[in-house]
Amino acid sequence: MNYQTILQEIHAEVQACLGEGRIADYIPELAKVPGSRFGMALQTVNGESYAVGDADQRFSIQSISKVFTLTLAMQLAGDDLWRRVGREPSGTPFNSLVQLEHEHGIPRNPFINAGALVVTDVILAKLADAKQTVRDFIRALGGTTDIDFDLSVAASEQLTGHRNKAMAHFLKSFGNLDCDPDGVLDAYFHHCSIEMSCRELGAAGLFLANDGVAPVSGDRIVSSSQAKYVNSLLLTCGTYDAVGDFAYRVGLPGKSGVGGGILAVMPRKFSLCVWSPGLNEHGNSLAGTRALELFTSKSGISVF
Ligand code: GLU
Repeated sequence: MNYQTILQEIHAEVQACLGEGRIADYIPELAKVPGSRFGMALQTVNGESYAVGDADQRFSIQSISKVFTLTLAMQLAGDDLWRRVGREPSGTPFNSLVQLEHEHGIPRNPFINAGALVVTDVILAKLADAKQTVRDFIRALGGTTDIDFDLSVAASEQLTGHRNKAMAHFLKSFGNLDCDPDGVLDAYFHHCSIEMSCRELGAAGLFLANDGVAPVSGDRIVSSSQAKYVNSLLLTCGTYDAVGDFAYRVGLPGKSGVGGGILAVMPRKFSLCVWSPGLNEHGNSLAGTRALELFTSKSGISVF
């Protein structure tokens, strides 16, 4: 399979839709990124690496951080985590409060904001320095020591993230946060603000394609079953309220973020990360989703 040729064809074909879609501006700092950017990187579990476009340009990973915080929380809490967070698609927007009221403060899954706040609380309750621990975990997985928070993005969300703040306090009122909500929010906003490139994110997520073992270091990050659990959750809950359409079109587990990144995984083969800031109506990168769809169509490789 000539992955580089496929990526180049995709890069040419997505040019027509670059600049379409809406850049997330509800976090004002994110609105500063030019909408015409596009990068894509594929890394195999055997150490091959392919990339096109702005694959080395860092961007705000936003909700893709939820993959790494979930992984850490699974390491720290094991199955106890599932007493506090569900494993079903939400069918509502990622920042909805309504469902949480109906379901007594148990978020539907770890990839909606409420679920990620509970996951962050699990980490914070065990490790005082949750911010740095998550960043260092991602640095180690990505094999890059200078991956860091974008403090202006974190501050921007701290100023404007009233809905997330409401959600954290709401969770606390149901007894589903152990820590102080403001501390949980501070850690959560920082995790979302981490900046990485497609190539770095793909490298960091490669353990999910390799049965839980980071291929470069040989370190076991999670058990083989836990890697399966995370990938299953990505497939069913990873791309907002368009998860069915994404699975239909792309056929790979994936997690998107409002910064325009999508990290996808093909178990036992590769990670595939794409970035383009213009978002479709569901908040997934418009050109990024198209690029992944083209990839699985052209290569004939998907989980199905
Ligand atoms: N920090 C963003 C928020 O909580 C993340 C959203 C996302 O990427 O889904 O609103």
